[in-house]
Amino acid sequence: MSSPKLTSGQRAVLRGLFPGDDYLERPEEACVYGADASRRFAQPWAVVRPRSLDQVRELLTWAHREAVPVFPRARGTNVVAGCVPQGGGVVVSCLAMNHLAIQEEDFTAEVGPGLVTGDFQRQVQARGLYYPPDPASVRFSTLGGNTATCAGGMRAVKYGVTRDYVLGIEAVLPGGEMIHTGSRTHKNVVGLDLTRLLVGSAGTLAFFTKLTLKLLPLPPAQASLMAGYPSLEAALIASRSVFRAGILPVAMELMPEEVLGCVAQAATPPWNAATKAVLLLKCDGRPDGLREELILVRRALEEGKPVFMEQGVDTLGEDRLWELRRLINPASFRLAPDKISEDVSLPRGRVAKAILGIREIAQKHNLPILTFGHLGDGNIHVNIMFDAAQEQQQTGARQARKAVLELVLHLGGVLSGEHGLGLTKREWLHRQVGPVERGLFSLIKRAFDPKGIMNPGKAY
Ligand SMILES: Cc1cc2nc3c(=O)[nH]c(=O)nc-3n(C[C@H](O)[C@H](O)[C@H](O)COP(=O)(O)OP(=O)(O)OC[C@H]3O[C@@H](n4cnc5c(N)ncnc54)[C@H](O)[C@@H]3O)c2cc1C
Repeated sequence: MSSPKLTSGQRAVLRGLFPGDDYLERPEEACVYGADASRRFAQPWAVVRPRSLDQVRELLTWAHREAVPVFPRARGTNVVAGCVPQGGGVVVSCLAMNHLAIQEEDFTAEVGPGLVTGDFQRQVQARGLYYPPDPASVRFSTLGGNTATCAGGMRAVKYGVTRDYVLGIEAVLPGGEMIHTGSRTHKNVVGLDLTRLLVGSAGTLAFFTKLTLKLLPLPPAQASLMAGYPSLEAALIASRSVFRAGILPVAMELMPEEVLGCVAQAATPPWNAATKAVLLLKCDGRPDGLREELILVRRALEEGKPVFMEQGVDTLGEDRLWELRRLINPASFRLAPDKISEDVSLPRGRVAKAILGIREIAQKHNLPILTFGHLGDGNIHVNIMFDAAQEQQQTGARQARKAVLELVLHLGGVLSGEHGLGLTKREWLHRQVGPVERGLFSLIKRAFDPKGIMNPGKAY
């Protein structure tokens, strides 16, 4: 069966442009490109896999002329339906564009958008170089997807997020015109910063065909510390002491009581029922400097009077500690089969208020809510657990989500620190961004994409 929404002439053009398997239109083949990690779905009219810049240019010239919507897609790991072809259109997979060239002397790399981030990190590390952004999906998400979502990760405390490493972008506009933003230099203040505008643009402005990324020297040593506390407040005192000691850890994660109980069902952790909050930190640097830093970090962590402290120095020891953090997601499903997952971000000093407020929301709706995450930069994950088969729980979960987002905005926080708004949170945009600013978003969208064919309906 062929696609119902493209004419036979249009299908013939696409088939000619994308030979063989690079063009899919049978619903049973195309359907896997209709969903992402949000678990939402819309059937694509067709799927194409460009391998060259010329193919992308021809495609976007054609799509603009014919006013056919196009949905850029990489690995589909975004959790906000960012690449679901809602309303119908052609899904454009960038996975075949995964070239890599490293310029060691410049501390840069030029990559295709379809290169998997973890593979890239391994290749640059083999040359003593370092690409820090590390979303938890690093092993299966791509540099193109990370750039379009401005992905963050645990190392953001010290090293920042994807936006801090994208020096330049080659992209194709609807209509087929090419743009080159930024440069291979680490500094550049010429003109308006279109690179920053494109990072996080969620596939709504242009299709990326090449990214120029900044690299750092690889830190030779690293270590992690875990400390358990008798109260949430004690853990927060300790976290503040670390910063006050003049230390910027690579990562600083918080796991409050609810999360500890949940993880303890799936592993044998170093905490017991007396532990009400756990901090997990990572530091790096040169071996001698790191040794000194660890002494200072331990001293700072002791200010919260921990009930236990563990250090992981070698890869195995560190991995044992971080595995407990990674277990939160799978372990959460022991509480209930379904979850609403939010990744709100708060001014750092208001994280405690948010956690306490969310506990009240959990009590009110009688649902388990796990709140945890990147304490070091105020980006916390909120998992509202429920059973979708029970109508009352489903309604309760939706109301709890609304209450959580209201609370976060009230505390001066933002709706998303990493995942973006996609389709799932788009209706909340006006609660955070004013009408004048939203008007500017629309003007910018029109300047790049006058017919509105690029990933329509997403983000803003
Ligand atoms: C288990 C798990 C853990 C995660 N952990 C994190 C985390 O720690 N931090 C975090 O930030 N996110 C996290 N995510 C979310 C997700 O991995 C990120 O949003 C990631 O950046 C998406 O990359 P992708 O390659 O899958 O892109 P996709 O999901 O395919 O696409 C994401 C967006 O990019 C656009 N896009 C894709 N390719 C292009 C292109 N060539 N040109 C223009 N636009 C394009 C798409 O239209 C879409 O809007 C996690 C997801 C999962 C499932």
